[in-house]
Amino acid sequence: MIVHLRTVLAVTNELISCPNLDTTLRQAVEAIRDALDVERCAIFIAQDGFLHGTYGTDMQHQTTDEHANQFPINEIWQQRIDRLNPHDAQWIVTEDDMQMEWTGEETISLKKGWIAITPIQAVGGFKGLLFNDTAITHAPLDAVQQEIVSVFCSLLGRIIENKEGEEDLRKALASEKELGDLKSRFIATISHEFRTPMAVIQSSAELLKYYSDRMDEANKHRQLDKIEDHIEIMTTLLTNVLTISRADTVGLPLSPLAINVMNFCSGLIEEIRLTSGKAHEIIFSSVGDHSSYALNETLLRQIITNLLTNAVKYSPEGSKIEFNMQCETDKILIAVHDEGIGIPDADLKHLFEDFYRAKNAEMIPGTGLGLSIVKRAVQAHGGTIHVDSTVGTGTTFTVTLPILDVDPT
Ligand code: ATP
Ligand code: MG
Repeated sequence: MIVHLRTVLAVTNELISCPNLDTTLRQAVEAIRDALDVERCAIFIAQDGFLHGTYGTDMQHQTTDEHANQFPINEIWQQRIDRLNPHDAQWIVTEDDMQMEWTGEETISLKKGWIAITPIQAVGGFKGLLFNDTAITHAPLDAVQQEIVSVFCSLLGRIIENKEGEEDLRKALASEKELGDLKSRFIATISHEFRTPMAVIQSSAELLKYYSDRMDEANKHRQLDKIEDHIEIMTTLLTNVLTISRADTVGLPLSPLAINVMNFCSGLIEEIRLTSGKAHEIIFSSVGDHSSYALNETLLRQIITNLLTNAVKYSPEGSKIEFNMQCETDKILIAVHDEGIGIPDADLKHLFEDFYRAKNAEMIPGTGLGLSIVKRAVQAHGGTIHVDSTVGTGTTFTVTLPILDVDPT
């Protein structure tokens, strides 16, 4: 017995020092195979109403990947699990006990061989099952083997529980770090980009405070307009940074609605015409039936607004901007073309990175967040984006979005 205890102790030590849960389970099947010398074994882990395969060993004593196998925890299984004594892992199923449902199609009858099924228990409850199979020799596990299996499953349950805890902690730390990085970038950009609008707001407010008695109505309005415009700039910047942080943490919501893209796009173009303050000729053309398409309005708005404001910002007054839309049965293509400054080749591959700005745009105000948002919005929508540009000639951004299924809620 001492020899067996030493084996269990050695296996436990080995499993505890595994770097993650996956390696632990792989080593666990190998350890039990070597300790019991059984024909086959496999570990299944309980999750979301199913028992999911992890690793096993086959007749040739090779380790097998069982991740593709799973079977539901049906009523029979549930009743057995509910009856388990949390302090006693010994629960060996014998051939007369039951039949095992496998993926709902194939039924492996225990009568085909002798199969021992032992629950893997932890403090927090049932974790899964260890299957042992001696289908060829039909030799049942002897008393010593049964004892080893029971003790092993008991220890394995606790080790799995600890590994899961470690992984949760690792994930929490990783997302904490990501959040920390994001916060630093957020603070750096905000402090840099807020400086100009805040200075403008402050000087206009001071003018109004100390000199309003000497100012005419028109001048007062000009100062108030300046304050309003620069608050708008700060609000947009905040919204952009928050959109990016949301995309990177919880993801952008995708609840598609059937919309008339033609009306939607002309509305947006009109808004850009009114707010851009620069005289550009925006030419809108569309091909196909665009009456009702399932798309996410918010994402589409972010994509189009950013591409159009860039086209306006990076091209001279009086130049043409073309907005072409092509509606097909399964997708929609949007191309925004301008006759502006273009993008140097060296900058093209970095264009969609957060806060990245091309060398030739340094004199034009911007934060380098617009295209990052566009990219995340396009990805959330399952689409693609492509850019073609020649310095001094112009730029074309092409977006392809698949049509989604309308959200029934
Ligand atoms: P904002 O966050 O205010 O949108 P931005 O316009 O600088 O700032 P992006 O929209 O992300 O940021 O664009 C990134 C960079 O890509 C820009 O700084 C500019 O160098 C280049 N760029 C984007 N669109 C065009 C365009 N149509 N023509 C020329 N350069 C462009
Ligand atoms: Mg932009």
